[in-house]
Amino acid sequence: MKKSGKILYDADPGRAFYEGRDAFLKAALEAVSQQFSLDGASFYEYEEKTGLLRLKHRCAAGVSFEHEENLRPVPGSAAARAIETLKAAVSKSPGGSFLYSPFRFDYCDPAGGRSVIPCFGLVRLERSPRKRRFSPAETARADAYLRSFLRDYYKAEFFSLYRKYDKNVAAITELTEVFATALRVRDSFRHILSGIQTYFGFDRVRLYLIDEKNRKLKGELSADIRGQIKSIAYEEIPLEPGAHRFADIVLGRSSGAFMERYKDCVLYMPMAVQGVTIGLLIVDNLLSQQRIEPEELAMLKSFGGQIALAVDNSRLFDKVEELSLYDELTKLPLRRYFNQRFQEEFYRAERFKQPLALIWADIDFFKEVNDTYGHQIGDKVLKETGRLILSNLRKIDFPCRYGGDEIIILLPQATGAEATRLAQRLSQELAELRIPVPFSKTRELRVTMSIGISTFPADASTQDALLEKADDALYWVKSHGRGKISLYSDVAEEKKKAEQAGGSNNAVK
Ligand code: GH3
Ligand code: MG
Repeated sequence: MKKSGKILYDADPGRAFYEGRDAFLKAALEAVSQQFSLDGASFYEYEEKTGLLRLKHRCAAGVSFEHEENLRPVPGSAAARAIETLKAAVSKSPGGSFLYSPFRFDYCDPAGGRSVIPCFGLVRLERSPRKRRFSPAETARADAYLRSFLRDYYKAEFFSLYRKYDKNVAAITELTEVFATALRVRDSFRHILSGIQTYFGFDRVRLYLIDEKNRKLKGELSADIRGQIKSIAYEEIPLEPGAHRFADIVLGRSSGAFMERYKDCVLYMPMAVQGVTIGLLIVDNLLSQQRIEPEELAMLKSFGGQIALAVDNSRLFDKVEELSLYDELTKLPLRRYFNQRFQEEFYRAERFKQPLALIWADIDFFKEVNDTYGHQIGDKVLKETGRLILSNLRKIDFPCRYGGDEIIILLPQATGAEATRLAQRLSQELAELRIPVPFSKTRELRVTMSIGISTFPADASTQDALLEKADDALYWVKSHGRGKISLYSDVAEEKKKAEQAGGSNNAVK
């Protein structure tokens, strides 16, 4: 039993209303006690399932209690009659006079649906045997007062429930959206974590993922209440029983619970997709030492599947992108695809004794473009370059984004001269390209590229050598002013001349 201090609010329920439900209840019972010169007032809620009246609050001799007590109304008693008929009933016994004022209000479930939540119970007013019994007029007045008060009391409760529910609905809607759109790994983990942190208001949310190959639980990200999102990649936990509490939880060795609460303000949530555990989400209020409420736990639990799925999806997306053959930005085939095709084309060229040319292009000062105008403009340059290349090639040519700002084009059956003509066309079109840069003084950006060309069989007899010679030619251009095109054969000639002249050969490897 908890004893409260002095009477608050001078028994003014109106003022107490703003202090919360408990204060409101207490003030109302105190007010009714004063008004009807009572010796005690008790507030019970009725549980239909068990038939028990559960004491919620009691006020006696000017002191309020929060109280645990169950009462089973004796059949035929005033309390039982009041509950049955929903009308006030009085009784007198050697213990004193009693007035039972019942109430029942049905509220719609704030969680939706058509279900109705009954608020059912009674208030018992007591007078000692020395005092007079309750008159019918008093009974009617007390009953009206209590009903009106209790209606407000439950309204306040449901109002706060509705508010909480509204907040939860907003969180569900927004988080669902976050999870559904979170596709790219780096961004999505950020979104997921900061979404959880923001909507639940946790001090910190951390994500760990299982690295199946190395049998480790690896830290990914941490989002905190100050809006900081940090990598926790330095945290690696061996996925072995007993190695660490986190490992035990993930391995299901720790009490086997779906979730575990640690000292009330940390919550561990293993994430599973189709029965396979993929990681661990840890939320905590360690900084504020606020208890994680059961409703928050339930809500997070209901999101568990979605969180795991979103995390897994973004991991999968990354893998698929890795496995895909085309580069998203330039729409050009990726190096993996190129390597495979290069082998085939080289074999064909060798077998049918046909020429094969290789163009190696690299955008000039591309880093500077990024540094000056930002990555988005850099991306635009790459995108336009890709478009330009694709619109100039023959069907049998095979371009590739070799990496960064490097592009390789394989030209089956093409000689050095034919490759040079294509390279010139590409260079010219690129030079004519204007990339708008809205927030810059220059307003538009122009770029050039350097190109090296090698040919089979003239310059090289193997795949590797063909690549190497094109790279040599490119290097030559890069170290001789950029923005030009060089054939390896010309570069080799230059190199020879330079050597003969006793000059340095550092321009060509
Ligand atoms: P140069 O070619 O004349 O030697 O100078 P550079 O500035 O082009 O130097 P480098 O080729 O080494 O730099 C390539 C830069 O391309 C570095 C990297 O930041 C940038 N980069 C690579 N991939 C992308 C991308 O997908 N988008 C953007 N915007 N930049 C990228
Ligand atoms: Mg470059």
